[in-house]
Amino acid sequence: MSILVVGSVALDSVQTPFGSAKEVLGGSATYFSAAASFFADVRVVAVVGDDFPEEHLAFLKRRSIDLQGLQRVPGRTFRWAGEYGFDLNDARTLETQLNVFAEFRPEIPEAYKESELVFLGNIDPDLQRQVLRQVRSPKLVAADTMNFWIDRKLEALRETLKSVDVLLINDAETRQLAGEPNLVRAARKILDWGPTSLVIKRGEYGALMVREDGWFAAPGIPLDSVFDPTGAGDCFAGGFIGYLANTMNFEDANIRKAIVMGSVMASFNVEAFSLDRLRRLTYPEIEARYKAFKRLAQFEDL
Ligand code: AMP
Repeated sequence: MSILVVGSVALDSVQTPFGSAKEVLGGSATYFSAAASFFADVRVVAVVGDDFPEEHLAFLKRRSIDLQGLQRVPGRTFRWAGEYGFDLNDARTLETQLNVFAEFRPEIPEAYKESELVFLGNIDPDLQRQVLRQVRSPKLVAADTMNFWIDRKLEALRETLKSVDVLLINDAETRQLAGEPNLVRAARKILDWGPTSLVIKRGEYGALMVREDGWFAAPGIPLDSVFDPTGAGDCFAGGFIGYLANTMNFEDANIRKAIVMGSVMASFNVEAFSLDRLRRLTYPEIEARYKAFKRLAQFEDL
């Protein structure tokens, strides 16, 4: 089944205690698509400027990602700069340049309108809604956001949430969005605004899914080489939605497996800067790490 994603396609500059990368391939739609493309067909709606390197488009095409909905317009590509301290869970934004995204009007190609799954990547919530309005009858709508939009566009974001089934955000964003320091109460409040599931990403500590009927916890896998957490959230979403698109089974047990697949894809992504780890990732590696996650969380009553 096909996934439509709208989000940023970016040039990122990132500093971590282990190195730095300047103007490398990034963006919420980019990370999401690359991760999801291991499981399903992905169609991208986004915009880049005329400075966007051709080699990045070639990489996405090699992963069979459909770029019909990627506009290329005069101007500069979206840029994000951020840094991390030794606590890699905490990203500090140094600069956000919307550039061509400031004037972006998403137009969905006719062929995309029947997409079964939609991922509204981290982007202006008004744009997220403009995209959603053009998709006929999606079976599942998932979304992400970040402090940048919670600070600036809270009302627009609340409006978008009314049409979202699964919201994927990190724990700090959960607290900030709900205006509530307790995670349980914050989650309950957000579920009242529209989504039926909330997936709370907790960096190296794993992820929690919250629904009306209870919680599910996936662990984070201990890794001995973590270089750059940028894009981990989007790769998580790509593994999660990609797995659901591949199986088209939205029952609780399968959603739990999808959460683990999200964790698997995120865990690979942090092992290198930009999308470098995903570039050389293979299916057998994905399968092996899925099993490692299963072992990590398994326990029996004696
Ligand atoms: P994450 O998965 O949360 O680490 O997402 C990181 C990606 O989000 C980076 O590659 C950035 O280019 C992109 N990004 C950062 N800020 C924004 C923003 N305000 N709007 C859209 N994309 C953003």
